[in-house]
Amino acid sequence: MRTVPDISSFLKPLEDAIRLQLLPSISGHPGCSADEWDLLSLPCHFGGLGLINPTKVSDSQFDASLLITASLKDLIIKQSVCARPPDVRCVKAQFWDAVHLRYGWKLLNVPSHCVCGVSFTIDHAMVCQHGDLTFVRHNDLRDITAGLLSRVCSDVATEPPLQPLSGEVITPKSANRQDDARADIHARGFWGRRQSAFLDVRVFHPNAPSYRNSSIPSVYRHHELQKKREYGERVREVEQASFTPLVFSTTGGMGGEALTFYRRLADMLSRHSSTSYSGTLAWIRCTLSFSLLRSATMCIRGTRSILHRSNNASPEMGHIAGPRDF
Ligand SMILES: [Zn+2]
Repeated sequence: MRTVPDISSFLKPLEDAIRLQLLPSISGHPGCSADEWDLLSLPCHFGGLGLINPTKVSDSQFDASLLITASLKDLIIKQSVCARPPDVRCVKAQFWDAVHLRYGWKLLNVPSHCVCGVSFTIDHAMVCQHGDLTFVRHNDLRDITAGLLSRVCSDVATEPPLQPLSGEVITPKSANRQDDARADIHARGFWGRRQSAFLDVRVFHPNAPSYRNSSIPSVYRHHELQKKREYGERVREVEQASFTPLVFSTTGGMGGEALTFYRRLADMLSRHSSTSYSGTLAWIRCTLSFSLLRSATMCIRGTRSILHRSNNASPEMGHIAGPRDF
């Protein structure tokens, strides 16, 4: 295809084989419609899977394809030697799940009922509080963010305790006034020199029934405002610090305040390590998306049964966040 020009009409049988045989076998989704095939053949950042439709590939990409595939070719050759069958099976299953989640296809081989007793659905698996899976999802994002902050800020800590109130009047009704209140992350020198910043992570599932009648942007804003009412004034008045809510959706998106935060973080990291800003931001977003994707497949495939959970599974995860985070 990349060595002979003007051969697209000869590639129709190949396209049919990709669409009718390869696609069902790698995605576990039989019978792709023409529209779905068009969607899947788009690049990943346009919502596709980056699968090439050979009849539409332009010959002018010949030089570029040689360059682009050189490193991939090396990786494929190495993988064929290193990868053992169990790893391949595990990666394949996770990839299938990821593709099915992305396109809203019915998942394969899921139980009919959750451990908590209700019918098993994806939407339920994402929010079920049985087991610690939603905590792990939250804590993974917290730890990734704290790890990145620690490269460019001082006094970075997870689950920092807030100073108890000593007579200050905090106005919002839903403000957290407890003596043992904690934010998720503290860092010094993020928004301003020597200035303290407190951050709190929330992950919500956009397909939950309570959000059905709301637009996605308004749900992000709702969670940001709720977090700010809970912590904003107390952090400002008592800690003399700033407060930023980091709101994520289980499907990989983030709220406006989180986006501003990670853009600044990418700026600081890129200056610190003399790398490009856009590359650093893309890498951060990729890291966060993979965390959410790992968590999504864990919520679907991970065990929620307490019988399987070790009694000392939590120490290395540090303080386990409470239900307030969800
Ligand atoms: Zn459940």
